[in-house]
Amino acid sequence: MANKFSIAIHGGAGTILRSTMTPELQLQYETGLQNALNAGYKILEDGGSSLDAVEAAVVSLEDFPLFNAGKGAVFNNIGGHEMDVSIMYGKGLEAGAACGVSHIKNPVKLARAIMEHSGHVLLSGAGAELFAKQQGIVFEDDTYFYTEQRYQQWQEALKEDRVQLDHSEKKFGTVGAVALDQYGNLAAATSTGGMTNKKFGRIGDSPVPGAGTYANNNTCAVSCTGHGELFLRCVVAYDISCLIEYKGLSLKEACDIVVYDKLVKIGGEGGLIAIDRYGNIEMPFNSDGMYRACRDSGGRSEVKIYP
Ligand code: ASP
Repeated sequence: MANKFSIAIHGGAGTILRSTMTPELQLQYETGLQNALNAGYKILEDGGSSLDAVEAAVVSLEDFPLFNAGKGAVFNNIGGHEMDVSIMYGKGLEAGAACGVSHIKNPVKLARAIMEHSGHVLLSGAGAELFAKQQGIVFEDDTYFYTEQRYQQWQEALKEDRVQLDHSEKKFGTVGAVALDQYGNLAAATSTGGMTNKKFGRIGDSPVPGAGTYANNNTCAVSCTGHGELFLRCVVAYDISCLIEYKGLSLKEACDIVVYDKLVKIGGEGGLIAIDRYGNIEMPFNSDGMYRACRDSGGRSEVKIYP
């Protein structure tokens, strides 16, 4: 029998309330999650790598307009889309990331190209876009990234001069995936448009290895979603890995400490998905809801929004 393999994905956390959700909209979200989960799981099932699985799952989520990444990315305060992204492979701690990039159809593909071909870990803005062109990464014009829903959110946020955490007052729509493949390799990826009406040039936790994304074969793979400033200050993803590595905690114990105690103490709202080297999956969040789904080779399969 093949070794255990598993995958988990998220489409953001925040104020996701049953009272404001219609059955039609819920079905759309669940379909978006299910399709991304299937794309990643199929790769693992066929003996593919966790790196390919998280990339495929995130591409699917980036292409789905209801999530805040790729198509569907939120507007910043000057009416543009600046996206942050990262990918990490637990085998050799390889990482690739880009921040403040525009017009990239699938930012996660750029992150992977940076990891594999740039000799660097993190590229920003115009330099990242130039590298993307050289790598043959697909670009789209502004009309591709325009969605009416995001435009209206930005207009609302502009009126009140506030920085908005995605769809509602407090909703984080970043996407991410973590996976363990049959060969014991862990991988994680996170992709986001950031926060509605964010300052031009603002960078969150998502593209920062150790903050929004982390993978280490000795411990776990983590992808975060939430108020990026607080997740940066808590170095959330690496902290979970450290609690496992240095304190010998289980994945669940480590996640509980970081999400329900450390983050809460400084007002850090959000959640994360994590898989350890045994294939155990955790998807904790301290907000009202988190779009999430997971599947493992042992038969666990879930698509959930609420607690
Ligand atoms: N963490 C992301 C950021 O602050 C937002 C999110 O998760 O929705 O950019």
